[in-house]
Amino acid sequence: MEITLTQGDITEQQVDAIVNAANSSLLGGGGVDGAIHRAGGPEILAECRALRAAHYGKGLPTGQAVATTAGRLPARWVIHTVGPVHPDPREGAELARRTELLASCYRESLRIATELGARSVALPAVSTGVYGWPMESAARIALAEVMEMGRTGGLDEAIDEARFVLFGADAYGVFERVLQELSHGPMVD
Ligand code: ADP
Repeated sequence: MEITLTQGDITEQQVDAIVNAANSSLLGGGGVDGAIHRAGGPEILAECRALRAAHYGKGLPTGQAVATTAGRLPARWVIHTVGPVHPDPREGAELARRTELLASCYRESLRIATELGARSVALPAVSTGVYGWPMESAARIALAEVMEMGRTGGLDEAIDEARFVLFGADAYGVFERVLQELSHGPMVD
């Protein structure tokens, strides 16, 4: 499995599965979620409503993931995951717990992608928008988890490409630097 980085709009990616930074209601929101429902059309929301009615009466728990059709998007599936809200610094132990939940979003999304047979997956920087997670910390958690899964989770054969799609040059630059660091150690000028 190759980890790649792209700057752009996740709804335009030609991949088998697109991961959505959803909220637990599964009924749509802003950011990535809004863009996916706008571009993918009402079929996605219809499946989300059915999932709510059948399995997730209280909503999809943070750190978990679930798949629906991708409607009109070029992908075959949307995998909805719910990131944690970044905790207030005064909340102490919450940071460790929610860091694990953020890693779980990537783990669960890729596990579902593998079950579906998706060979290429586009991933957003979950929790870095409305949920307020600082980009650098989010990039470390996301990249470390996906790299680890590539090594130990059997993904190397199952998935060809895990593509992080970053909205804007700043986010892209942070992911690029962290990926470089995690792969080869810190850059030296
Ligand atoms: P969350 O609620 O998990 O914080 P958001 O959707 O608000 O999720 O934001 C997650 C990240 O996705 C942010 O960095 C935001 O800039 C970025 N983003 C927003 N729209 C898109 C899009 N169409 N494609 C890719 N990334 C996007």
